[in-house]
Amino acid sequence: MQVICNVCLQSDILCKGCGNRLKAREITGTEISAARAVHKLGIGAKFSHVIDTEKDIFVIASAADVPKFIGTSGKNVKKLSSALGKNVRVVEKSEERTMIEKILGVHVIGVNVAYPGEIRKIRIHKKRINAEEASRLLEKIFNRRYEVVME
Ligand SMILES: [Zn+2]
Repeated sequence: MQVICNVCLQSDILCKGCGNRLKAREITGTEISAARAVHKLGIGAKFSHVIDTEKDIFVIASAADVPKFIGTSGKNVKKLSSALGKNVRVVEKSEERTMIEKILGVHVIGVNVAYPGEIRKIRIHKKRINAEEASRLLEKIFNRRYEVVME
């Protein structure tokens, strides 16, 4: 799915249709900026989501699009980072556990879910990461509740 229409991609304003999608929260402001930057830089790849966090902007894309976002020797991701003013991290859309390992840079021992819709417990080995911060980051990316537990 395209984030915004071709007209809006090339302009700084939003048409009524795209404006309504932003109001309905189907798309975010960060996704619009990212889509415009991707278009302007001629990267020629599509993302499924873009999540803005305190430190980084996560671009979630299919396996086929990830290499396009990264570019030769990381050329595209560097350009995209400077265009968006934050470090861009490209993550392949895949199984939850694989994505978490990539995002947190840790090995996941297990994912425990007591009930659907409940807090998802992510068990990892003791690492120098802040479990609380890691939990909040995952919540932002996956839009559900997490608790990172170190063993
Ligand atoms: Zn539009």
